[in-house]
Amino acid sequence: MTFNTWIIAVDNRIADLLAAAATVPGEVHVAVLGDRDLAEELARTDVADVLWFEPPAGSVVEEYAGQVAEAVAARKPDVVLTGPQDAARLIAGRLAAQLRTPLITSVQSIEADPPVATRLTVSGSVEQTVSASPLLAVLDSPGGAPEATDAAVTIDQIVLAPGTTISMVSAVPRAAGADLSTADRVVAVGRGLAAKTDLGLVRDLATALGAQVAGSLPLAEDLGWLDKDLCVGISGKQISPALYLAVGISGQMQHMAGVTRAQKVVAINNDPEALIFGKCDYGIVGDLYAVVPALVSALGEPRA
Ligand SMILES: Cc1cc2nc3c(=O)[nH]c(=O)nc-3n(C[C@H](O)[C@H](O)[C@H](O)COP(=O)(O)OP(=O)(O)OC[C@H]3O[C@@H](n4cnc5c(N)ncnc54)[C@H](O)[C@@H]3O)c2cc1C
Repeated sequence: MTFNTWIIAVDNRIADLLAAAATVPGEVHVAVLGDRDLAEELARTDVADVLWFEPPAGSVVEEYAGQVAEAVAARKPDVVLTGPQDAARLIAGRLAAQLRTPLITSVQSIEADPPVATRLTVSGSVEQTVSASPLLAVLDSPGGAPEATDAAVTIDQIVLAPGTTISMVSAVPRAAGADLSTADRVVAVGRGLAAKTDLGLVRDLATALGAQVAGSLPLAEDLGWLDKDLCVGISGKQISPALYLAVGISGQMQHMAGVTRAQKVVAINNDPEALIFGKCDYGIVGDLYAVVPALVSALGEPRA
């Protein structure tokens, strides 16, 4: 049996979506929301064709998410995969309504056949596999940029109409923030840090490792010492770096659910009984105020 599989792409991070789609027998199509360059980049991947949605200039995704959903629904997909980006989730929600199928979130993997989605539930402590028809899944990790093939497939274009119920009032560029979803190395800090002014210690370590800084919920939300976007866990980001170094983090399951796909987890904690020591690959029992400067000094020059 073969399935009509679609990927909804809002940027070029679709390598894991493509890998998941490749497990499902049948053709894979991509619905791309963005500029022509993005459509052309994705047309050089291992897909049957590309449906390119060109947004109106100066528009917001809420204006046309319904139009994208309608067009994809009209192509009667059996399986639709997308990533966790805001625009992707918004379109997926509209598509779920169009297809009258549940939207399955926090998905880790897809298997066929028949297509099923596996996800983490109960704060990351249970791996649950579900089926639905059509199967509409938001994967936590869309992956990085896909490998380009030699030939490009056909691009069909749909020009989206401006919406009438919402419009953009202003859009002010902010300084570029960290993108944890694609970070290769992450240094995360928790309540073990005594003061906001000590964040410099952790930033020094991140710089020495060429890593992004992240944090536990108390730091990013309750104390507001870090940007909310930098929270790791079920209420924040689920990430998959090669290295996750947790500094002064106890290792509660709500936090660790965010790093189940990290390749190596390293913990620094002064409590030998801390939960995180049961969940890491390497642990350093010690005061972060002694261990972190020692590591920075041992690492020497910052890594690229
Ligand atoms: C519904 C729900 C959702 C949640 N979602 C999230 C989420 O997405 N992300 C998240 O992070 N949390 C989440 N939480 C909160 C979570 O349960 C924990 O409370 C939180 O992760 C604890 O943060 P922490 O490890 O920074 O702090 P703590 O648990 O207070 O741990 C601090 C650690 O630092 C160590 N320490 C103290 N001083 C030092 C020192 N000098 N050197 C070294 N180590 C030191 C201590 O031994 C301790 O282990 C959620 C909770 C709920 C109920």
